[in-house]
Amino acid sequence: MAGVTAQSAPSAPSAPTAPSAERTAWQVAAGVVDPELPMLTLRDLGVLREVQVSDDGAVVASITPTYSGCPAMATMRDDLVRTLRAAGFADVSVRVVLEPPWTTDQITAEGRAALADAGISAPGTAPRHEGPVALNLGPIRRAVRCPRCGSGDVRLVSEFGSTACKAQYSCRACWEPFDHVKEI
Ligand SMILES: [Zn+2]
Repeated sequence: MAGVTAQSAPSAPSAPTAPSAERTAWQVAAGVVDPELPMLTLRDLGVLREVQVSDDGAVVASITPTYSGCPAMATMRDDLVRTLRAAGFADVSVRVVLEPPWTTDQITAEGRAALADAGISAPGTAPRHEGPVALNLGPIRRAVRCPRCGSGDVRLVSEFGSTACKAQYSCRACWEPFDHVKEI
C-alpha cells in the first residue's frame, strides 16, 4: 500500500456490512437469468431488489414485477428458489415488491449491451407517469435504431414480437428483422 495517500476521510457508508452468506446469496440470485430474455440476469433486468439472509439461514429474495401479467414472473420465482437451494440455502422464499415500480430504465448498462449483442434493440427512456395514465390507442413513435447495422431507418412490423414485452421492427438498411424491448 506504499505510496497511497489518504484523501479526506469519506463519510461512513450507510449500507450495513453484509455477512458473507448474504453476499453469496445475492451473487447466486443475481446470476439467475430472465426466462424470456436469457441474455439478461435478474440483476441486469433490475428486478432483483434485495436478498436477505436471517441468522437461521433463511433466505428472502425480493423481486419486483416487470409488468402486470408478465408470464415470466412465476418462472423467475421458481428459478430463484431452485438456484438458491442448489447453492446450499435450504430455506428460500421470494417476496414480490411492488414499490417502487419497475421501469425499463432499471435495465443496467451491461444488460443493454447484452441485448444489443443478441440483436435486440434496448428500450429508450421510459415514459414518466403522474396520476391517471391515458390510454393511447394510436401508433407509438419510438426513436429505434437497428441493433445490427445502427440505421435509424426502421419500420414497425408489430407491437408484439417474440414476447409481449417486445415490438417487432424491420430495418430498411440491412433488411434484418429485430425485436425492440418496449419502454414502460
Ligand atoms: Zn439494420
